[in-house]
Parts: sequence; structure tokens; C-alpha cells
Amino acid sequence: MKKFILILGFILIFALIGCNSNNDDEADITLSIVTTYSIIYDITSNIVGEQAEVHSMVPIGSDPHEYDPLPEDIAKTTDADLVFYNGLNLEEGNSWFNRLLDVTGKLDDESSVFRVSDGVEAIYLETAGLEQDEDPHAWLDVTNAIIYAENIRDALIETDPDNSEIYQANADEYIEQLKALDQEIAEAIASIDQQSRHLVTSEGAFKYFGIAYNINTGYIWEINSETEGSPQQMRDAIDFIRENQVNALFVETSIDPRSMDTLASETGVPISAELYTDSLGESGSEGDTYIKMMRTNTTRIVEGLSQ
Ligand SMILES: [Zn+2]
Repeated sequence: MKKFILILGFILIFALIGCNSNNDDEADITLSIVTTYSIIYDITSNIVGEQAEVHSMVPIGSDPHEYDPLPEDIAKTTDADLVFYNGLNLEEGNSWFNRLLDVTGKLDDESSVFRVSDGVEAIYLETAGLEQDEDPHAWLDVTNAIIYAENIRDALIETDPDNSEIYQANADEYIEQLKALDQEIAEAIASIDQQSRHLVTSEGAFKYFGIAYNINTGYIWEINSETEGSPQQMRDAIDFIRENQVNALFVETSIDPRSMDTLASETGVPISAELYTDSLGESGSEGDTYIKMMRTNTTRIVEGLSQ
């Protein structure tokens, strides 16, 4: 409580200072920020509050592995004070993000372009020939999302130190929510019988989640933008389902469901629900924030595998 009052005090002092500087004819500093996709957009928005305009490039429901930036994305990135991207081999399809940084003059701009996954312990892919590539889906372990939030907070403070107290307070509050969420997911997944704890999705996006919350994971293809749903991949997925006696399948909201439909009809195992992996849900849906998408995924996984 003391800490809370202290933070409130800081905010109040800050608000007063802010008012003064307005009177001194100093224009309000509004940061302009670009994020590569919706999940980083949401984490960033929670920390910047009202201090910035945040533009997210890859649309809701689309796959951030591959993207063609629009003229608006190029203009906003050119003007951005800060650009946040995931890294870990995510925005690599057609090198779309690197090419964007190149055309906008930000390729070597370390003061405004930040990899939010810095400090995350990377998992590497297991597909033959891809073992050197990182698995990008670190955000599906909430403790990694906390690292993202800390990196975003630090970049904001570095770029806009005048508002550092606001960023610090917002981040503290948001990280508290993430810690509670992490605990909630761990407890929910632990409630599933050990022999039913197998999570099969189209893309192998749940490895970080699986390690963090103790659930075995299977997939049809390991990462988007590689071959998706080849006969060999389908055979391997069928083997996984039979060996583990998997009782429900899941399909991602940002992925063409046809391969998973085929897998369900080949194995007779039903698709239980949609999960959010590489994108938030549409506004108003059960997955329209990072916290909601993680909570909704968990509820659906527990329901599907507990039957
Ligand atoms: Zn993905």
C-alpha cells in the first residue's frame, strides 16, 4: 500500500510538472510507435498509456511470419520514434521486416528499433535443416511476456525520460497482472489428467507454453512459412495422436484450418476449439488483449482435454 501511495504521489507530482511545462509553451510530446503485430501492440499500449500513438502493422487474424507492408506502414515506420519487433526468427518471411527497416532508413538505428524478446531463453526448431533457427513464439509463456514488457518499458524510458514515472508505474501494474496470469495458467493446466495433457495444433507454436506449463505439444508443421501440411507432416501428426491417445485437437485463429480438418477426419479425433497464437482476436472477441487471449486459450485447452 505504501508503495502504491508513493507511486500515486509520483504520478501526481508528475502531472503537476506536466501542466507547468504546457504553460511554458512546450508542446506535448506524443511518441509515435510502430509494432510489428497485435500482441506486441497490446503489451506496448498497456505501458505507454496515453503518451503515444501506437500503430500495429500485421492485421488482427493474420500471420506475422510473412507480411507485405502497406504504404501507411512505411510512412509510420519512417516517422516512428520507436519500433518494436519480436525477433527470434518471427518477422523473417521474405525478410519483410528487414526490408521495411532498410527502405525507411532504420536498418542500423539502434536508438529507435528494439527487439522485445531480448533476454528470452530461446528454444530452437527441431525440423531437420532448421535446427539453427529460433522458435519465435516466446510470448506464449507469460514469464517471457513479462520480459517483453520490461524491455518495452526500458526503451520508452530511454526515449522519453520525462515520462519515465508513468511508464514505470504502468509497467509495474501490468507486470503484476501478468504474474497472476502465469500462476492461473499453471494451476489450470495442472488440473488436466497427466495422460490427457497433449496439445496438438497446426503450427508448433506452443513449445514455450508446453515447457512453462507442463503440457506435451504436437503439431502438423513446426513453423509457418515452411511447408504446411505435407503428406509426411500429416503422417507424423497422425502417429503423434495415436501414440499419445490424444483426445482433442485445436486449430489456430490465424491459420487456414484445412490441414487440421483433414487430420481430424483421418484420426476421428475432434477439433475442440480455436486458439490464439500469432494474433490477438478481433476487438470484442474473447482474445482481444494478450491477457484475455492467454486466459481464453487456457480455458479452451482445459475444457477440450478434460472430456
Ligand atoms: Zn507462428
